[in-house]
Amino acid sequence: MDARDSKNGSILLIDRDPALRVDVSAFLRKLGFEVREAGDANSGIREFRDLDPFLVFLDLAISQNDAAGILTAISKEAPDTPVVLISTNGEVPEELQKIQLDAFDCLARPVTASAVEHAVRHSQFHSRLQDASRAHLRYLERRNVQLDVRLHELEKLCTRLQSEHYKKASTEVQTLQVNTLQGSEEVQLRAIQAALESAADAFLITDEAGKIVYVNASFVNSFGGPTAPEVPFRLGELFLNPGVADTMKENVGTLGTFSCEVPMLARNGQEFHALIRATAIGGESSAKTGRLYIFSDITEQEQFRQQAYHDALTGLYSRRHFMELLQQNVSLARRHGHPLSLCLCDLDKFKDINDTHGHQVGDDVLETFGRLISEEIRVEDVAGRLGGDEFSLLFPYIPANVAAICLERVRKKFASITFTTEAGETFSATATFGIADLQSEDAAQEALIELADQSLYKAKELGRDCIVANGAPYE
Ligand code: GH3
Ligand code: MG
Repeated sequence: MDARDSKNGSILLIDRDPALRVDVSAFLRKLGFEVREAGDANSGIREFRDLDPFLVFLDLAISQNDAAGILTAISKEAPDTPVVLISTNGEVPEELQKIQLDAFDCLARPVTASAVEHAVRHSQFHSRLQDASRAHLRYLERRNVQLDVRLHELEKLCTRLQSEHYKKASTEVQTLQVNTLQGSEEVQLRAIQAALESAADAFLITDEAGKIVYVNASFVNSFGGPTAPEVPFRLGELFLNPGVADTMKENVGTLGTFSCEVPMLARNGQEFHALIRATAIGGESSAKTGRLYIFSDITEQEQFRQQAYHDALTGLYSRRHFMELLQQNVSLARRHGHPLSLCLCDLDKFKDINDTHGHQVGDDVLETFGRLISEEIRVEDVAGRLGGDEFSLLFPYIPANVAAICLERVRKKFASITFTTEAGETFSATATFGIADLQSEDAAQEALIELADQSLYKAKELGRDCIVANGAPYE
């Protein structure tokens, strides 16, 4: 899960006036939030990095320069964090409006409890909207991959159906030539029906009233034969989520064709992952009121896809897929001139952990590290396991010095975990990180990996459990 999706209860309150801090923070705590307070710009920025709050209250009673410093830091490191300013007139000063933040709000001093509560609720709503859009982004990314695989599968299916069709048709034609009984249209129909009957995909054709006109053998095999052909077929019963049927009908009604991937329910109660294509077809009349549904079992492809793209132990991207994503992101960053950084990380003295506590415990440590990094990075970031105890993270749009802030959080959290073996022994583990920026527009991807690797090597030399960014230790 994206770390920013999960941050919920923490608010940072930056205010020079201790009395106002006490009042506002007491009220926020009463609303159930964790509150950190800061009285000046330096401690404000420090707390912001440490807490990663979902909302910041910033009283402009601190100097405008200090306020600008804080807002600039937020806009660089987490521009989607909503900021509520407190000013004398309830307006954002012009100077500060220039700073790029996703959401500003402003309250007039003296602030009332209801104004604070309103600002908090508004920010929560903003965060939820952001979470929803991130989730949608993730969905679209997955969909992209799925579409590629599906296209490939469809091409294969098409080729197979065509060859089956030609094989059957030629057999039929030969039989016809021997018997000289039927006309060519009937031969074609019989060949098509034979192809459909032998197809691995399930076919269902319904008429304008939704009643079954035809199902092939594979359909009967998977879902059973039509029990009451005289009433409209209850399509929803084929799906794990029956609502899919209405969505499908609606889309075919307006678009003429629709396809989706959803879990289906076979008659033996088994679930399977299916690709469904639905098309409006002409019936007796010329209007396209009938429906053709093709259900393809793609469970196996789904498993292959998972295996090909993901490392089995940690669930992170496999080396191969990570490198593909790196290549895509590097070329995008070059084309649009935006920053990008790459981190290589490696667990420290991991061999000793295996040797002391056994391979299974070592696996648990790898899994924990994998989970931790995927929890801490943003949805746009990419994490992979390159092999053994080597991991890699890619930060599009983020330069190495900013990525280091996130990695410092990972480093500290990982080092603070206490692992317990079955024998009751406890130990902790650490990791070392090397980060590099994509240097110039024409820099090759290999050069970026090399730079990150050099930083990692240097960090190991410096004593491990630390970060080196572009060759310099991160403090
Ligand atoms: P350094 O701090 O220099 O990185 O020391 P290290 O001991 O971590 O270095 P090294 O790369 O030599 O050790 C990696 C070890 O990871 C060696 C290998 O046996 C172990 N390993 C590789 N893959 C797996 C795995 O899937 N599970 C477990 N438990 N261990 C693995
Ligand atoms: Mg290692």
